[in-house]
Amino acid sequence: MPVNSIKVGTFDIHSVSDGYMIFQREDFFPDVKKESWRQYPPYSKPKFEMNIGSFVIKGTRKTILVDTGLGKLDHRIDQPVRETLLSELDAFNIIPNDIDIVFLTHLHMDHVGTNMAKDNGIWKPTFPNARYIVGKSDWEMFSGLLNKPAYKYLEEQIQPLISNGTLDFFEGEISLTEGVVTLPTPGHTPGHTSLLINSNGEKAVIMGDAAHIPPQVEETSWSPSPDMDKNLSAETRSSLMALIESSHALIASGHFPRPGFGEIIKVDSKRFYRPIR
Ligand SMILES: [Zn+2]
Repeated sequence: MPVNSIKVGTFDIHSVSDGYMIFQREDFFPDVKKESWRQYPPYSKPKFEMNIGSFVIKGTRKTILVDTGLGKLDHRIDQPVRETLLSELDAFNIIPNDIDIVFLTHLHMDHVGTNMAKDNGIWKPTFPNARYIVGKSDWEMFSGLLNKPAYKYLEEQIQPLISNGTLDFFEGEISLTEGVVTLPTPGHTPGHTSLLINSNGEKAVIMGDAAHIPPQVEETSWSPSPDMDKNLSAETRSSLMALIESSHALIASGHFPRPGFGEIIKVDSKRFYRPIR
């Protein structure tokens, strides 16, 4: 049985998924030499699958949903399984009304796609009782891309939230609820942010897209094509993995093979990602 939930102190963290995408390895990691993949057998083929994972942080005071998948925004992406986020939340007895905060790690389409739903032709927040929150510097950058066709999705999934005053912008390290703080991890996008959960001496990091596949836990210089600033993302990845290792935090990763919970282990002075089973 896969471990779909972990406990971190007083928090329950549930893993849910909105489906998965398929990418060409060479397109996604154009800078990685072919022979470098040999030591990572799960990635030996030309294509690989990537989960579209979200996490629910359920505390005694707040229920936080981290990222909202691709929803119906599946244009040009090979996505064999799709739009499963709400049914997977339901399997944990979580309905949209239960969500207090929707935290967006960044504004790429595979993280915001279920923010809004069309109701009688009008876009309404899928999670009607939630404040939505995203890094200020992400919106500063993405708002300049609105007239590009590839970023049209922002008009339906982000702009209505701004118009109706439901989206909050933050900078730096802030507390979402006691025990959950934002951890800026720029590079993938300018305002990209992970979350650090710290409760009763136990820790976990919800990484967002600071890493996309487990080999990057060791190969921190492997920056994929969607990283907007590849040098910065590599620096961020390196310090993030060091932090996770030294603080013995668990990893929760939406793009690692689901359910995406694991830890860092050291073998012959190399870091490896070990999934929790
Ligand atoms: Zn992503």
